Amino acid sequence: MTAPTTARPPMDPDEEAALLEGINKWVEKELTPQVVMHHDHNDIWPAEIVRQMTEMGLFGATIGTEYGGLGLPSATYAKIVMKIASHWMSLTGIFNSHLIMACAVERFGTEAQKQKWLPKFAAGEIRGGLGLTEPNAGTDLQAIRTTARRDGDHYVLNGTKTWITNSINGSCFAVIAKTDPDAQPRYKGMSFFLCDKREGGEGFTIGKKFDKLGYKAIDSAELVFDEFRVPADQLIGGEEGQGFFQATGGLELGRINVAARGVGIAEGALRLATQYAQERQTMGKPIADHQAIQLKLGEMVTRARAARLLTLDAAAAYDRGERCDMEAGMAKYFASEAGVANAQEAMRIFGGYSYSKEYEIERYYRDSMIMCIGEGTNEMQRIIISKQWVKRNPA
Ligand SMILES: Cc1cc2nc3c(=O)[nH]c(=O)nc-3n(C[C@H](O)[C@H](O)[C@H](O)COP(=O)(O)OP(=O)(O)OC[C@H]3O[C@@H](n4cnc5c(N)ncnc54)[C@H](O)[C@@H]3O)c2cc1C
Repeated sequence: MTAPTTARPPMDPDEEAALLEGINKWVEKELTPQVVMHHDHNDIWPAEIVRQMTEMGLFGATIGTEYGGLGLPSATYAKIVMKIASHWMSLTGIFNSHLIMACAVERFGTEAQKQKWLPKFAAGEIRGGLGLTEPNAGTDLQAIRTTARRDGDHYVLNGTKTWITNSINGSCFAVIAKTDPDAQPRYKGMSFFLCDKREGGEGFTIGKKFDKLGYKAIDSAELVFDEFRVPADQLIGGEEGQGFFQATGGLELGRINVAARGVGIAEGALRLATQYAQERQTMGKPIADHQAIQLKLGEMVTRARAARLLTLDAAAAYDRGERCDMEAGMAKYFASEAGVANAQEAMRIFGGYSYSKEYEIERYYRDSMIMCIGEGTNEMQRIIISKQWVKRNPA
């Protein structure tokens, strides 16, 4: 099966600038430190902010205009994610995971599925995410144990998904399950379903909710399927055995999105550290005038810029419809590590105050690590990059 193209023309520069200006203004006005810290420290799902993001069309950002979305190319979308994540990374997870689910339907769904689901996803009327990981299977996706057996005009799902973003406040999830658990190779027995909690009765429930280090205010919990009946027309693409291909087909965009979030953290930490270094004085001068701090800021700004450029480079390749697993992998790997490194360096610049919850920087430190783990760990990214690099450079 050949993957449908991801090509989308770049946005008109003036239109893009106007859109980004609107996002900047919203971020500065609504995502104040007080608002963000209140939600983050108390782990409160941001209902009012989600309402505003829905109004702005963010839940349909990358969905085609023919289905009611904004139809943004991934490069423009990445710039929006960078800006929001530079103030509060958690928020971007609420629409990112949702859009990866939507992307699976838009790229691989039947026309009837697109017509039925995408307008509701785009309007934020139905929100959700992606159900791949299981307690025994993260990196090794083919080891999943959730099964889907055909029963008349339904499939019956049994199994548990874990760590699922938006699990409590979302309702619909693209869930991968085995329609043929004995298939060899294993991926041939995997299929992708749209599972809507509201259709589930007692067959689709929420299990354990995780109490996390960071990435607060967004729900991560288990999805538990117990004889859950999914209408057969919610098998994405209408054909069994395509699930592994469909799920991994969305990973390039997912990795560009995670990279953009890493850039946001790297730039946000840099912004806070730059301001603090000019205000805080020791030995009669701002610490920004001490060489030890200058070395840090010099590295941080270089790292943030490099991460941004790698991410936009991967997004441009995606928008040209090119295969870009290497570019997306490099962006995800570098930008997520840049987020961690800049958050950590900013902690050092803030000195003792970095350890106080009165300052924002500790949130960037707590939020940064998840970018190295989600959408394929950074260990796997380097392996993917290397394999693709060697393939493109035969001896
Ligand atoms: C906050 C959060 C949100 C998440 N959201 C979602 C979500 O919405 N949907 C979803 O489906 N999942 C989600 N996940 C799950 C996430 O995708 C997995 O945690 C991730 O894929 C890693 O899987 P694992 O935790 O099972 O680690 P494992 O696969 O057990 O890996 C453990 C370690 O071994 C390394 N490793 C494993 N295999 C290899 C190999 N072959 N070669 C080299 N190194 C290897 C890994 O790099 C890692 O360092 C989320 C996780 C978190 C923490």
